[in-house]
Amino acid sequence: MKILFLDQSGKLGGAELSLLDVATYYRDRSLVCLFQDGSFREKLQARQLPVHVLAADTLQVRKDSNLLQALNSVGQLIPLVNRVAELSRDYDVIYTNTPKAFIIGALASYRGGHPLVYHLRDIISADHFSRLNRELLIRLANARCRLVIANSHATRQAFIQAGGRPEIIKVVYNGFNPEAYHVCEGDHQHIRHQLALDDRFLVGHFSRLSPWKGQHVLIEALQYCSEHVVALLVGDALFGEDSYVAQLHQQIESLGLQHRVKFLGFRSDIPALMNACDLVTHTSTAPEPFGRVIIEGMLCGTPVVAAAAGGATELVEPGTTGWLTPPKDAKALAEVIMTCCTQHDVASSIAQQAHEYAKERFSLAKTNQQIEQLLEPLLSGFMH
Ligand code: UDP
Repeated sequence: MKILFLDQSGKLGGAELSLLDVATYYRDRSLVCLFQDGSFREKLQARQLPVHVLAADTLQVRKDSNLLQALNSVGQLIPLVNRVAELSRDYDVIYTNTPKAFIIGALASYRGGHPLVYHLRDIISADHFSRLNRELLIRLANARCRLVIANSHATRQAFIQAGGRPEIIKVVYNGFNPEAYHVCEGDHQHIRHQLALDDRFLVGHFSRLSPWKGQHVLIEALQYCSEHVVALLVGDALFGEDSYVAQLHQQIESLGLQHRVKFLGFRSDIPALMNACDLVTHTSTAPEPFGRVIIEGMLCGTPVVAAAAGGATELVEPGTTGWLTPPKDAKALAEVIMTCCTQHDVASSIAQQAHEYAKERFSLAKTNQQIEQLLEPLLSGFMH
């Protein structure tokens, strides 16, 4: 089975990191086609994956604009569809990983009649998409897809609620290689020393800086925590959210928290950083489709608190494998932070249970096997 993977981004977001692992499994019989160049291409090539960059200009599509019109208005639509249709001639399946890639892949699939897969990593709801874009994605999926893979039940449910056909969408959770999250004691000490933390209680947030990822909720929570609690914000404004970054700095200043919040920008050493934290926080204000950072925190052996909405509620069993707090509720978050800070035994026993659970439940081998089983039936009658 030869697969043409499509992704719109050159940057490393959760969707791209997840695709990296799926595509690696098909390394010898696939091509990953990107609409933009960037660090994602480098990561793929470092794993010896064949990559083709279509190098379209960066396309900023506002949430309320129409994806199709936006692609068309900058003259990208037809050339991209043509190029993907041409490339797909040598492949058996077009496997799309992001909304814009899905639209292009769907239109290209009309030409060659290829089976089309949409790996849906977004909650198709008003929180994340305009009405026009929701309709466009759902109509195309219903018309063209024999398989949509949802990264959680929440993602699947939102697809169905938006009008998607229930029979085409199956849930496969993201998988992780636990060994990649193993950190030795020396690295742990080294990072804490580098960050000049002494014995302070370090709360980490690992995400692109974006309003719905809710970094402001953690900052707000910090004011209700004792002085020796500090926060680490790891991640960058990947999609032009510069005004949000300015807003975060303003919030920190107005609360007088400059000495208790550190911004590290985008980092590639996530396991070492998570391991150095005393608690990993997830604070999305809108339902999270999956939330890789939650499982990564567990695999690093660090306690995790997540915002109780969307896929996150499927990943955390409160009181057993972590904590859930209502989205946007800074006081509830502060309470969990202070519980972890004062009750080390409780926090470490939960972290240990979560570690075992994440290793077992979210293994990459299992995920790859499930995807392979779903792809198999698509190929009957279509194989190069
Ligand atoms: N991440 C990273 N470097 C950073 C911040 C985040 O590599 O500086 C990774 C993080 O470890 C996780 C991914 O980006 O694997 C974010 O995925 P998630 O599902 O949490 O959110 P998404 O980006 O898909 O909305």
